[in-house]
Amino acid sequence: MNGITLALSKGRIFDDTLPLLARAGIQVLEDPETSRKLILPTNRAELRVVLVRASDVPTYVEYGGADVGVAGLDVLLEHGAAWGQGRSGLYQPLDLGIARCRLSVATRADFDYPAAVRQGSRIRVATKYVQLARQHFADKGVHVDLIKLYGSMELAPLTGLADAIVDLVSTGSTLKANQLVEVERIMDISARLVVNPTSLKLKRESLRPLIDALGAAVEGGS
Ligand code: ATP
Ligand code: MG
Repeated sequence: MNGITLALSKGRIFDDTLPLLARAGIQVLEDPETSRKLILPTNRAELRVVLVRASDVPTYVEYGGADVGVAGLDVLLEHGAAWGQGRSGLYQPLDLGIARCRLSVATRADFDYPAAVRQGSRIRVATKYVQLARQHFADKGVHVDLIKLYGSMELAPLTGLADAIVDLVSTGSTLKANQLVEVERIMDISARLVVNPTSLKLKRESLRPLIDALGAAVEGGS
């Protein structure tokens, strides 16, 4: 593949990346919400977008299925990427500052989380982010039983499946609608540009200007 392939996920990541691409002079020529195509052309003949699951973006970029991608820090860390220059073989040149949210612990209002922590109780925690949750509670010295879920985390404390969840929060309205309270902030999250290091070497002439243009778009925005 001679051109550049950019991996995005539908929804928030795609929607928030579009304005940055536009500021870099790039238009995606089809709307993923109405098209069934998974490969979308852009106004640049050498650049195409592939649509993958949010959690598959690092995998695509790491193995060269895409040269570059946009992924949340949550996904990158859970995937095993280190901070900064990824241990996993992903170069992370830019914090795009989009899809901002935070990773937090939430419980039912009637669960006394501070007391459970203080007393050294074993807490059942449901989450999609098993690695990040394990790390967080290990750092705090809290004993947890982790339950892996793939969605609708809010349901876990309401049904008695778990005492707490570790999930992404932005406005807090989903938690509120389900009568859950945020009891601890673990980390701030935003989406990052990730680049395949081999692509950067072999396609530097086309990739470097793209990275620089996106960097300028981030600086110029907000
Ligand atoms: P899938 O739908 O494939 O299971 P997903 O639910 O992780 O994946 P999205 O909800 O589009 O997909 O989330 C993609 C990324 O957007 C997340 O990894 C995170 O970085 C960010 N994100 C998720 N939820 C929020 C939110 N409430 N506010 C802001 N950013 C968010
Ligand atoms: Mg989601």
